[in-house]
Amino acid sequence: MNCKEFQHWLTARDSFSKEISPEIEEHISLCDQCRCLYETDESLEAMIKSHFYQEPMPQGLTDQVDISIENAVSPPKRNRKHVSFIAASIVLIAVVFSFMVYNQPFKYQSLQQLSESAVTRHLEKDTSMSFTANEIELAKVSMSKQLNFNVIFPDLLSQGYVLLGGRLCILEDCEIAYLFYQKDGKVSSLFIMDYNFLNFAMADGSLFKNETKGFNTDIWKDKGQVYTMVY
Ligand SMILES: [Zn+2]
Repeated sequence: MNCKEFQHWLTARDSFSKEISPEIEEHISLCDQCRCLYETDESLEAMIKSHFYQEPMPQGLTDQVDISIENAVSPPKRNRKHVSFIAASIVLIAVVFSFMVYNQPFKYQSLQQLSESAVTRHLEKDTSMSFTANEIELAKVSMSKQLNFNVIFPDLLSQGYVLLGGRLCILEDCEIAYLFYQKDGKVSSLFIMDYNFLNFAMADGSLFKNETKGFNTDIWKDKGQVYTMVY
C-alpha cells in the first residue's frame, strides 16, 4: 500500500468499511504523514459523535412543542452553541482536506523527470561519503533502517564498476541512497530509491536508457527498488 491508496481508503471508508486491513495498519505504522492524517480523521469523528449523542427527552416536552407551534409567530432561533460547533467542524474538515491535497508526498511523474534530477545531482559533484567500500554490509543495514526499505546494492562488478562508497541524500523530496562507483577513471552516481516514489507503474526487470545534458542515465527496477545510474 502506498500513500495514495491509503488516502483513498481514508476518504472512502465512511461509506464502505471501518475495518483496518493489515496493509493499512502496516502503512500507518511506517508512514508518519498518513498516520497523522488517520489520527486527525479519527479524532474529528469522535468529536462529531460526542456532540451528537442522544439525550432523553425532557418531561413535558411534547406538550411544550405543541404550545410553541400554536403560538409561533417568528421562526425559531438556532442554538448558537450548535451553530458555532458546526462552523468549527467545517473549518477542521477544510484543514484536513487541504492537508491531504497540499501535503501529498512528492512522487516522480516520469522516468524522464527522475533522470533529469539524478543528472542535476550528479553534476553537483559532491562525493562526500558516510561509508566506504569496506563498510558495505554495515551501510546496507543502517541505510535500510533509515530509508524504511531493504536496500539492496546491485552487483555491477561484472560491468567493470567498482563501488567507492556512498551516503544518504534527498533527491527532490525523496530520501534515497546515493552510491559512487568508479569505472575507467570516471566516477558514476547510483541512486537507489523505493518504488513508492514513482507515481507510475514500472515492472521489475525493466530498463530505461536516456541521455540528459551529455550524461547517460540507466534506470531499472529490481526487487521493488528503483536504480538510477548516471555515467
Ligand atoms: Zn503514507
